[in-house]
Amino acid sequence: MSELKSYYVGAHVSASGGVQNAPLNARAIGANAFALFTKNQRRWEAKPLDPKSIDAFRENCAAAGISAEQVLPHDSYLINLGHPDNEALEKSRLAFVDELERCAQLGLCYLNFHPGSHLREISESECLTRIAKSINLALDQTEGVTAVIENTAGQGSNLGHSFAQIAEIIDQVEDKTRVGVCLDTCHLFAAGYDLRTAESCAEVFSDFSDTVGFEYLCGMHLNDSKGGLNSRLDRHHSLGQGEIGLEVFRFLMADDRFRGIPLVLETIDETIWADEIQLLRQFAVRAVTE
Ligand SMILES: [Zn+2]
Ligand SMILES: [Zn+2]
Repeated sequence: MSELKSYYVGAHVSASGGVQNAPLNARAIGANAFALFTKNQRRWEAKPLDPKSIDAFRENCAAAGISAEQVLPHDSYLINLGHPDNEALEKSRLAFVDELERCAQLGLCYLNFHPGSHLREISESECLTRIAKSINLALDQTEGVTAVIENTAGQGSNLGHSFAQIAEIIDQVEDKTRVGVCLDTCHLFAAGYDLRTAESCAEVFSDFSDTVGFEYLCGMHLNDSKGGLNSRLDRHHSLGQGEIGLEVFRFLMADDRFRGIPLVLETIDETIWADEIQLLRQFAVRAVTE
């Protein structure tokens, strides 16, 4: 019998004052997983990571018992790997390579990103091809870090809101060992995937399994949603306080397919992250004992 991996539960914590603070912030809320920005997510420019910061980051992760597969860094919101304009696309591609390199320097193995937007200037399929090409170029220039595509709420012209679109990108990625997926529960719901009951969750994840495949799942973002089903609104809420409710989180914490990957809260009230993490752990324990 193979041994089951643990549930890795945490939040997207602050790295203010330096990346080395992220694992400390994770530890303070009882997390054994976390997400972070390795640079200011609203700026193009960033100073290279300071070697002292890098060392401290690695030490603090080790002290918290958090290994690379428990960390899901998020790239800058400015990057659009499917940009219709070639000059803007080039800028995004350069910034994406820099983000992958920063993750590699920190000893991390994932980089989570939103696929891209067509800005109503090119077709969906043309945009998906641009995104895949951006991933191919970036993987060619870097080593060791997997590009993790996050599903989107489908706001505006953002692509990646359906499993079919994600599959279409992966299909065109040459090195399938270095591409993955992160599913955000708020984005799923806003994009029309109903997660309100155990039955609907089972259907959604069986659709994911058939269309994309669990071998690509590298992480989850656990969020409730302020917007309704298929609202296309990217508005996160605290667990159980939005339109989705708690059932999906009970479902995830009772299903072994979600073990061994970072499960990251991006909920809106960070003062209750420790409680939300506790709640998720209780769901996991109850699932085993019931
Ligand atoms: Zn995101
Ligand atoms: Zn997310």
